[in-house]
Amino acid sequence: CGIFGYYNYQVPRTRLEILHLLLTGLQRQEYRGYDSAGLAIDAVPMAPDAAPNAPAPPALVVKGPGKIVDLEALVSREMAAGGHDPASRFEVHAGIAHTRWATHGVPSTANSHPHASNAAGDFLAVHNGIITNYKALRGFLQGHGEVFATETDTEAMRMLEGAYGLLVKSRHHPGSLVACKRGSPLILGLRGSPGCVSVASPAKGGEATRGAVAACAPGARPGAWECFVASDAAAVVEHTKRVIVLEDNDLAHIWAGGYEILNAEREGDGDGIEAPRPVP
Ligand code: GLU
Repeated sequence: CGIFGYYNYQVPRTRLEILHLLLTGLQRQEYRGYDSAGLAIDAVPMAPDAAPNAPAPPALVVKGPGKIVDLEALVSREMAAGGHDPASRFEVHAGIAHTRWATHGVPSTANSHPHASNAAGDFLAVHNGIITNYKALRGFLQGHGEVFATETDTEAMRMLEGAYGLLVKSRHHPGSLVACKRGSPLILGLRGSPGCVSVASPAKGGEATRGAVAACAPGARPGAWECFVASDAAAVVEHTKRVIVLEDNDLAHIWAGGYEILNAEREGDGDGIEAPRPVP
């Protein structure tokens, strides 16, 4: 399938622009999957002084079987029916989108991505690839109730077998995106000036070189910046030439201050993940 994500911090975008970016990102990757498509965008602009992790209203999720033009039509209908103003401005926004090539489950609205962790849509994920141990995981998760259903962390990532590229957003972390991968390709494109860069694992290309750690200077203000996430560089290079190719087991956290790339296999502190740096 094709995954596309768009993140902006302090770069004003209208809802229409964000939708256009997501739909174009999918169109560039339509060859990767064309039986269903979907996207999730934030419902209302974040207040400029909102606490970074104050829960946001549930995201708008639009998805269904068909091609990207069909998704476009669904989106227009949803915007009109819901009274969502296409001209609303979002200074901070995290959107995710997906074009599906079904491997498990027929093409249907329910089986289209993004998938939600619960009815409130606390966590939303798009997935490229096949989780080969999904039956065992499903049984395990059911045995543990909802606790694990809302966890998307390195422990969960380590339990996945097969191939995946995953992109996750949460209304509990409205100013963040999390991307991770093994086997399936996933690329980040950067535009603007992320205030903090932390690469704990080797990442190829772009400004993040092998083993680089360029931390946020104390007191530094995060700059205005944008991040594009895609399965194929073709969807990113029209926006920026600063591209990072994620490696297997990388987990990228994209947030107001910048981005950090952690690697579940290479981190030495046991849990494979560091606490995110606070935004200055
Ligand atoms: N295995 C997942 C599904 O069937 C993802 C397929 C894909 O990569 O599009 O929905």
